[in-house]
Amino acid sequence: MIIGIDLDNTIIDYRNAFWVTALKTGILNENNLEAVSEGGKSVPNKNEIKNYLLSCDNGDYQWELLQGQVYGQYIDHAQIFPGAINFLIHCHRRGEKVYILSHKTEYGHHDKSKTPLRAAALNFLEQNSILQGDFGITSEDIFFFDTCEEKVSKIAELNCSYFIDDLQVVFEEPGFPDNTIKILFDLQSKNLSGNCLNSWYKINELLFNDIKPTDVSAYVESGLKEDVKTVKKIRGRGNSRVYKIEMKSGQKYIGKLYPDPTNDDRKRLEKEAKACRFFHTHGINSVSKIIRSDHNLNFGLYEWIKESEINEITNDNIIDATLFIKSLAIISNNTPYEEFGLASAACLSGQMIEDQIRGRYRKLNKSENLDPALKGFLDKQFTLAFEKMLGNSKKFWPGDFDSQLSKEKQFLNPSDFGFHNAFQTENGIKFFDFEYFGWDDPVKLTCDFLLHPGMTLTDGQQKLWSKRMKDIFSPDPSFKQRLDVSYCLYGLCWCLIQLNVFVDNAQEVKNYLVFEKNNVEHKKNEQLAKSKKLLAHLIENYKHGLPSE
Ligand SMILES: [Mg+2]
Repeated sequence: MIIGIDLDNTIIDYRNAFWVTALKTGILNENNLEAVSEGGKSVPNKNEIKNYLLSCDNGDYQWELLQGQVYGQYIDHAQIFPGAINFLIHCHRRGEKVYILSHKTEYGHHDKSKTPLRAAALNFLEQNSILQGDFGITSEDIFFFDTCEEKVSKIAELNCSYFIDDLQVVFEEPGFPDNTIKILFDLQSKNLSGNCLNSWYKINELLFNDIKPTDVSAYVESGLKEDVKTVKKIRGRGNSRVYKIEMKSGQKYIGKLYPDPTNDDRKRLEKEAKACRFFHTHGINSVSKIIRSDHNLNFGLYEWIKESEINEITNDNIIDATLFIKSLAIISNNTPYEEFGLASAACLSGQMIEDQIRGRYRKLNKSENLDPALKGFLDKQFTLAFEKMLGNSKKFWPGDFDSQLSKEKQFLNPSDFGFHNAFQTENGIKFFDFEYFGWDDPVKLTCDFLLHPGMTLTDGQQKLWSKRMKDIFSPDPSFKQRLDVSYCLYGLCWCLIQLNVFVDNAQEVKNYLVFEKNNVEHKKNEQLAKSKKLLAHLIENYKHGLPSE
């Protein structure tokens, strides 16, 4: 099989580069943001910038000028599309030949610096380690053309089985070979179908079906330059795929391949890698060390720990967990706020919890063919409980319901924290999974730990946890009151999270299908029952106060 791939906006991802370059060159400034960005985003995309510039005086000139700068002098602000290098590795492992074919002028339009665009592109690929030969590509496999016609005739000459491009016009060019299968890489497409895909993850799936352990070996070998002996998939945790890796040297690692980040700006790998390094720098050793994080491959390699799962939670486990949080609270106080962003689902005010509940509710409610049992539950019991609990929280919330918690009272929330994300080791418990790490209200962590469906705590353990958390965060005089009035609201969030399996195209369903084929209906019933049970617990609690009291 011979696979041809376009370069700009297919392999090279300029999504952030257009806005950064427009600002750096003075073609646009921050004051233009609102007019340029159609969805109110902080970084407008290429098409938004193009449309805006073309609507201005002298817009054609400005747009051409900007493109020349982005593809030349400012190419370092671009990155490789997530999944593209994984694709090259998969091709190389399977012996499929890849060529890169780009229609690119020698110099950018109106570029006074005369930066040679083709050399800039090659240099960029070199810097991203694409031309070393590890992925089966060298500079000899890359072709540049002055016209689209020449590009298409080369596709025919190479006899490509597939050609992947972000522009439909390339496929429509006269002379495009009939026997080459067209794959349109279209990030914005609303009509995703067999051969029109909006991420490299989907292109990988189309051509290679699933990622094999030998692919993961290649990810590890390309980074460590050492031979892998075996790779074994461990049952997936959350949305990531986790592997046990043994090297020929006998060294073992955990490898983690994160979910498709193309249209998800949560930066899971980056957050987790940074959090792990941060813990170890500050002497918190109850988390796995990170060995390597490869941004282009979206793959992290962690220290292997001889461990066993925690099946029955003991009081000592709870104490270990609170000690971990205590050290984190101390470090948080000494960490500059700018060093980390917010935790992924941070709630810094009552209003933010309310917004999260409403957002999740809307997402569920807009599903086509909403299950009648679910609809009845949402419309009646859930809505009634939500209105009461929200009213109560607003009434007793310390301070303004919508004003954000001050920075001094926030702490670095490990997020998704608990014994579902922990192992017992010879040297005590080790916690993992910090993809959502960041600043947050410690009340959120306190409630999430009590409410997480992956853990069952006894009444005594709930009390122990709550008491210790109140002690740790006692310097914050409103912590206890916030905890009392937030518990039910976070509980309502968890009622809805449990129902994610009903959301159309939900990742939960896809993950579930991977492991337990053909039984989504059963899973739906099970999740609805769990959600109802949790709601009943919240209503009981609403009447009689926190379970921890
Ligand atoms: Mg292109």
